[in-house]
Amino acid sequence: MRVLKICKITIILIFAAACSFAAPAGAPPVVDLENAAKKTIVIDAAHGGADWGVAASGLYEKDITLKLAKKIKEKILETKNEDIKVLLTREEDKTMPTADRVGLANAAKAQVFISIHCDYDRRETVTGYKIYYYGGKKQSVAPETETMPEWGNVQKKYPEQNLKFAKMIEKFMKAKLLTEKGIDKGDEKIDEVRLKDRGMAEANPLSVNGVDMPAVVFETGNLNTKIDSALLRDDGVLNSVATHIKEALLNYVLSN
Ligand SMILES: [Zn+2]
Repeated sequence: MRVLKICKITIILIFAAACSFAAPAGAPPVVDLENAAKKTIVIDAAHGGADWGVAASGLYEKDITLKLAKKIKEKILETKNEDIKVLLTREEDKTMPTADRVGLANAAKAQVFISIHCDYDRRETVTGYKIYYYGGKKQSVAPETETMPEWGNVQKKYPEQNLKFAKMIEKFMKAKLLTEKGIDKGDEKIDEVRLKDRGMAEANPLSVNGVDMPAVVFETGNLNTKIDSALLRDDGVLNSVATHIKEALLNYVLSN
């Protein structure tokens, strides 16, 4: 009898324990173990398709941004760092709304977002690259974010990280790097960016409005000017810019 009573209690306890460990109603959470440890970098090749961006000096902004974005991705993949995942917002010449680019990055829960552009300046003498970021001073909802109101002011979370990320890009764009070839040969071949540095500026860039992660806009050069259009036509210059941005991206994500 006593044995039976103990058995009954044991069965009740086992049943209670089983109930407390039962999965809650609804689908169980899916954990993507393969990508859980990865840090995702999103490179936005701005414009595309019917949206040319700046068209000057026989060049289209949409072509330069795609070329450069692909080069940066390729160079990151060449490092074979398994902790890094790279996504481009577009891999071909197609029209793509800002909301789709932002949605892609936010859905991927990426660590960092860089939107690649080229600029235009009526002053022929203003040349070089410039980095824009949201630093907390200005914030307004861009027209594009009307279609994604839930992300409207989300950049407000990242002024410090944006500044840190912008500084990292500027640091590496100005740095002298050993080229891959230089390392192979064991010589001291230094890779320098030939585009002029126009520095960083705090702004409220539309291309990153709604991006739920640290983000910057990188203006590669002024396509209407003789100097920048000649440089950006040169594949060697694009390779060099891509190498420096790759270094900045890897250093930023791996130190955060
Ligand atoms: Zn643009």
